[in-house]
Amino acid sequence: MVFGLNHSLAIRGQVYDNHPLAPLTTWKIGGSAQVLAVPRDLDDLFEILRQAQILEWPLFFLGRGSNLLIADRGLPGITLHLAPTFKELKLKDDYLEVGAGVSLPRLAHYLAAQGVAGFEFMTGIPGTVGAAVRLNAGTGPGQEIGAHLRQVTLVTPRLQLITLTAAELGLSYRYSRLLHFPHWLVVAAKFNLNKTAPPVQIQARMSELLRQRQAKSPVNSPNCGSVFKNPPGGRPAGWLIEQAGLKGLRYGDAQVSTHHANFIINLGHATAAQVKALIAHIQETVWKLFGVTLEREMIILPDDIMAPILNSEIR
Ligand SMILES: Cc1cc2nc3c(=O)[nH]c(=O)nc-3n(C[C@H](O)[C@H](O)[C@H](O)COP(=O)(O)OP(=O)(O)OC[C@H]3O[C@@H](n4cnc5c(N)ncnc54)[C@H](O)[C@@H]3O)c2cc1C
Repeated sequence: MVFGLNHSLAIRGQVYDNHPLAPLTTWKIGGSAQVLAVPRDLDDLFEILRQAQILEWPLFFLGRGSNLLIADRGLPGITLHLAPTFKELKLKDDYLEVGAGVSLPRLAHYLAAQGVAGFEFMTGIPGTVGAAVRLNAGTGPGQEIGAHLRQVTLVTPRLQLITLTAAELGLSYRYSRLLHFPHWLVVAAKFNLNKTAPPVQIQARMSELLRQRQAKSPVNSPNCGSVFKNPPGGRPAGWLIEQAGLKGLRYGDAQVSTHHANFIINLGHATAAQVKALIAHIQETVWKLFGVTLEREMIILPDDIMAPILNSEIR
C-alpha cells in the first residue's frame, strides 16, 4: 500500500512529515518517520489512534528510542512519539503516579529527593516508564520495574482506557503480556513506595551504581544497551559472545563492543542493515558453538511490528 502524506491529523500537539528518527534513538541509526505525531494530551492520543485505524496506517510507538533499531528506509505510517509528553509525577501517600513519558532516571532522582528508596537501579536505564513496563526493564533479580509496579493505565486499539494490575501483566525477566499486544499503549503507571532512607544516602547509592555500570559498558559510543536477553539458566549472553571470539567484530560501522560483548556500538555511520547483519552473525555463531539461541531484547522496526492497528468496531 502506498501511503500519501495527505493525512488529516488535527491535534494540538505536533505533526511532522518525513521526520528523521535517528536523532530520537540512542543508537543514532535509521531513516525517517513518514509522519511523526507528538500528542499533547489524551485527546490527541485518541485522535492519532483513531486516524491510524481509519486510514489503516501502520502505527509505531516511540519512547526515548533506547531499545530499538529503526530501518534505514524509515517507518511507514504514523510514529507516535510519547517521550515529550505524559511527564507528570504525582506523589501520593503510599504510591507514585507517573506518566508513561517520564524517564526512569528522572523517576529515580525524583523519589531519591523525597527520601524514597528502592528505585536506585533505574538511574542507569535511559528509557521511559511506558516502554519499561512493557519489557519489565531492570538490572537484575529484584531490581526490575515489576518489583515496584502497582498498576498501569493503557489505551487499547478499541480506544478504551483500561487499568491492569502488576499481577495481570504476568511480569517476568524482560517479559510482560503487553509484548503480545504491540498496539496497547501504556499512558501511566502507579508504583508502590515501601522503603525510606535519607536522600543523601539514596543519591550516593545511585552515583555508585552509575559508576559501576559505566565501568562495564561502552558509554562513549551510541548503543541500545543489551542486544540479547540472557538465556535462561545458562551463561549470560555477553559471556557466550565473548567466548565465541566475536568481541570487536565489525560490519561497517556497527561493532560488537570490546568493552561488553552484549552491546553493539555505532562507530559513526552504522546502518540498520549492518547492525542486523551483525546480530544475525552473532546468533548463528553462538548457536553453532554452544547450541544456544540468543533472543533479542531490543525491537527492530518495522520488522517486529508490521500489522496496522485495526479495530472493526470503529469503522
Ligand atoms: C545505555 C543503555 C543502558 C540500558 N540498560 C538497560 C538495563 O539495565 N535494563 C533494561 O531493562 N534495559 C536497559 N536498556 C534498554 C532500554 O533503556 C529499556 O528497554 C527502556 O525500557 C526502553 O525505553 P524507551 O522509552 O527508550 O523505549 P523505546 O526504545 O522508544 O521503545 C521500545 C519498545 O517499547 C514500545 N513502547 C514505547 N513506549 C511505549 C508505551 N508508552 N506503551 C507501550 N509500548 C511502548 C516501543 O514501541 C518499542 O517497541 C538500556 C539502554 C541503553 C541505551
